[in-house]
Amino acid sequence: MSLTPLEPWIARKAATADAGPLTADGPTNDGGRATSIERPFDPGLSPLAPRFSQSAIASFQLERLRATIELARSRSAFYRRRLATAPEVRALADLARLPFTTADDVRDDPLAFVCVSQDDIQRVVTLDSSGTTGAPKRLYFTRADQELTIDFFAAGMSTFTGPGDRVLILLPGETPGSVGDLLASGLERIGAVPIKHGPVRDPGLTREVAVREGATVMVGVPTHLLRLVRTAPPGAPRPPVHSVLLSTDHVPQAIVKAIETAWGCRVYNHYGMTEMGLGGGVDCVARRGYHLREADLLFEVVDPATGAEVAPAETGEVVFTTLTRVGMPLIRYRTGDYGRWVTTPCPCGTSLRTLAHITTRLSGPVDLGSGVRLAQPELDEALFSVDGVLNFATEARTAPSGPHLAVALQISSMADPVRVQELARAALRTLPAIAITPRLSLDLRVTTEAVTAPTLAKRAIRVSL
Ligand SMILES: [Zn+2]
Repeated sequence: MSLTPLEPWIARKAATADAGPLTADGPTNDGGRATSIERPFDPGLSPLAPRFSQSAIASFQLERLRATIELARSRSAFYRRRLATAPEVRALADLARLPFTTADDVRDDPLAFVCVSQDDIQRVVTLDSSGTTGAPKRLYFTRADQELTIDFFAAGMSTFTGPGDRVLILLPGETPGSVGDLLASGLERIGAVPIKHGPVRDPGLTREVAVREGATVMVGVPTHLLRLVRTAPPGAPRPPVHSVLLSTDHVPQAIVKAIETAWGCRVYNHYGMTEMGLGGGVDCVARRGYHLREADLLFEVVDPATGAEVAPAETGEVVFTTLTRVGMPLIRYRTGDYGRWVTTPCPCGTSLRTLAHITTRLSGPVDLGSGVRLAQPELDEALFSVDGVLNFATEARTAPSGPHLAVALQISSMADPVRVQELARAALRTLPAIAITPRLSLDLRVTTEAVTAPTLAKRAIRVSL
């Protein structure tokens, strides 16, 4: 089993990084973060790259952490205030003594995080508001920040992509600096051919493009890829795809199975969010969790209530600190994702840590009234296991007669709606929260029309309880 390419990539970054401070003067200054520009990921070097050592990465992380804190304190109005009385960080363990940064902090005043002049900002990403303030979240990136992402995409994709692979990118890629655009740049660096397509709108058309272009790798949203395989007419030509990377939302095993069965390919998970600089971690060939971008991001798993680090293998909230970003560094940013470390060694042989696949958001699970909570991933595994199901939307609300759960199922026009409804209802009845909630009324509607708005937002149970 081949070693994750992230290990030699991280080892090399740690071994060759400049020791200078992170400066906010932009991409022309080569202090610190220029390492990835001058020494980009080179897959040819992997077998000969320096072997990873825990102490080398730890000392690199500590040095970058101290530089990040210094930059943030001196240039960001937010961190000047937030870290005014914070203790000095002399060891990685001292990070736990620093305050967290939350999504609401970013929403309140995103510009207060920025450490460079406006001229050095290459890209601004505005995220839909889901917070309490109603304000959108904005993230700012310099050219050097984007280079770091491109370099990670090159390294991460080389897990299952090599020279000559033709990669169909089913993510937004029109805008310079968008995820699809940076991914395309990373793929070119490893000799692969990126094909920017954008999110799947017409699955028939996308399948045609995939076959015509001879796509061997695809990258996209889980439900979009599911639509591609489940709306294909019998005997339709199959793209020569060997690997699929799913991103932007958690990846239900039922979707992985449907895609792998239909195309005879391997499906990999990516974990990332805009705040991480889009990319955070990716499966190795063992596919039992993500190896992380540990030279650029320092991850913690903490108890969401107390903020203390959880015991190994226990579930908590994923928190990260940027180590190399200069536009808008984030220190102990709370992701709102539940995660846990995999404590057994990875069969790929790496010394890097493995973060188990993320499935649930802290805000996700819903109590219908029985005390047992219902979570989106449970619904996903139950409903996507039913052949013909393409997507669904769920709403939980209180009716005069008791709790009410409305599920709208989008199914393939080739599926038998009566049969799908029967199977879906039976699958839902196996979920503990649905089985035991007293007086629960379950309304299951089946349609061939879209049931969710065409956004890339994470899927979640809508609640009006
Ligand atoms: Zn591994």
